[in-house]
Amino acid sequence: MSGRRFEGRTALVTGGSRGIGRAICVQLAREGAWVAVNYAENAGAAAETLDLMAAEGGQGAVFRADVASWEATSAMFDAIEAARGPVDLLVANAGAASFQDDANMTLDLWRRILSVNIDGAFHCVWRAKEAMQARKDGRIVCISSIQGLAPSRIRRDRLIAYGTSKSAVIGFSRNCAVAFGPEIRVNCVAPGLIDTDMTGDMSDEMRARIVGETPAARTGTPEDVAELTCFLLSDAASFITGQTCVTSGGLVTLP
Ligand code: NAP
Repeated sequence: MSGRRFEGRTALVTGGSRGIGRAICVQLAREGAWVAVNYAENAGAAAETLDLMAAEGGQGAVFRADVASWEATSAMFDAIEAARGPVDLLVANAGAASFQDDANMTLDLWRRILSVNIDGAFHCVWRAKEAMQARKDGRIVCISSIQGLAPSRIRRDRLIAYGTSKSAVIGFSRNCAVAFGPEIRVNCVAPGLIDTDMTGDMSDEMRARIVGETPAARTGTPEDVAELTCFLLSDAASFITGQTCVTSGGLVTLP
């Protein structure tokens, strides 16, 4: 908890209805931002996020859009701009995962994971950047994964499409940071195993193996990721851009 660092700011968090995105929405709202909560399907969960924000004295509204679609994403930005003005703080968090072994990976599944995870980040950044450049101020965090840095030795071939998409998110963020500085800072957060719906069906055995190899000896919480994301969006991180920051309890360490 770091005061009201985002007073007067307008934030958009994609995939804000559940898990990591919800925790980021709540922390941003608690710290003074007006938060656009994006979701794809689950209107009830998005409304719950809004209630949790309100319980902290926060404000915002929900916006449905499939970020894999340029048209839907652009229409969402139009609606946010009409309601509140341009987005100052963007968190490209919405993500899709499928834990298929290579024998069950279809072309449709490959394309869907890539389009949500990397096209989705591209659509949001592209739509946000013009207003940020005009205002000479923008902060962007893209949520990647440790799987985008180092393929898991435990899950082996089950995460090829997901890991590839998350590597692309890291490369995209780095390139955007160089292209859009100094007006816009762009960073990536790479979480390890976080307890959300996305990881809910993992076997106890696999979870225990991962925790056993984690120096912090636990899984992460959505709030762990929200804390790092909000730091990167804040003034305190004004000299940090183009970076990938890992929150994995030490499961992955960067060279
Ligand atoms: P989650 O609990 O499954 O929630 C996914 C969120 O993304 C939901 O709000 C969902 O909306 C939204 N979403 C999915 N597809 C979308 C689309 N096409 N357009 C807009 N919104 C969409 O996932 P999570 O664990 O919080 O993951 C959040 C991010 O962190 C993802 O990018 C994920 O890859 C990354 N990550 C997660 C972990 C982990 O261990 N959990 C680790 C590393 C990285 P609906 O509610 O409407 O379905």
